[in-house]
Amino acid sequence: MTETNTSGAGRPSLPMQGVPQPRRQDVLNLPRVHISSHPVMAQKVTALRDRNTQPPEFYRHVKEIGALLAYEATANLALEAVPIETPMGPMTGQRLAGGIGVTPVLRAGLGLAEGFREVIPDAQIWHLGLRRDEQTLQAIAYYNQLPHQVDLQVCYAVDPMLATGGSAIDAINVLKRRRIPRLCYVGIIAAPYGLLKLSQTHPDIDIYIAALDESLNDVGYILPGLGDAGDRQFGTY
Ligand code: URA
Repeated sequence: MTETNTSGAGRPSLPMQGVPQPRRQDVLNLPRVHISSHPVMAQKVTALRDRNTQPPEFYRHVKEIGALLAYEATANLALEAVPIETPMGPMTGQRLAGGIGVTPVLRAGLGLAEGFREVIPDAQIWHLGLRRDEQTLQAIAYYNQLPHQVDLQVCYAVDPMLATGGSAIDAINVLKRRRIPRLCYVGIIAAPYGLLKLSQTHPDIDIYIAALDESLNDVGYILPGLGDAGDRQFGTY
């Protein structure tokens, strides 16, 4: 499991202890927030939550959920006309107008990004590793494979657990510097606290999630959640 940060005195730090949290019903109707209602998604999320689901199966489900979320999150992408020939003759078809970027936040976002690639094989994958400077609380990209030449119509930041919202907000901040016309966040489970924070900090993005849970515990884990999404994908308990 994830190591708990300790305070100077060696006690575990409890960043969410005593912090007021919105309730689920307070955030159900936020603008630009899309919560999946697909039954297949619900079944796969339940498989992830089950503590008996082992890493290979867990990773496979994350990938499949990534593909389902990609399908939902790309439903309104722009198209352009393209002339083609069918075996019966010429016609005007359609193709996606402009590139698609997917930014997995390392490392838990990797499975979701794989799912996106099943749906959009030519999506550009921009890996991003973030950590917070303890003093300034500024996000530092310790790994950044974002290209300098950007020609995308949209980029999806993907990270399975929207808990406190910190890394999602930081990832969108990094992407905003690239001046991509449209940005989205895609996750599997959100806590009301992180969902509200992300939506208020970045009201100009769309947020797609598979499930909305109840709350965060004192150390910032989602309840009922699924535990640590990175550890469970990669078997690092
Ligand atoms: N990250 C996780 O992997 N799980 C949580 O519950 C919260 C953050």
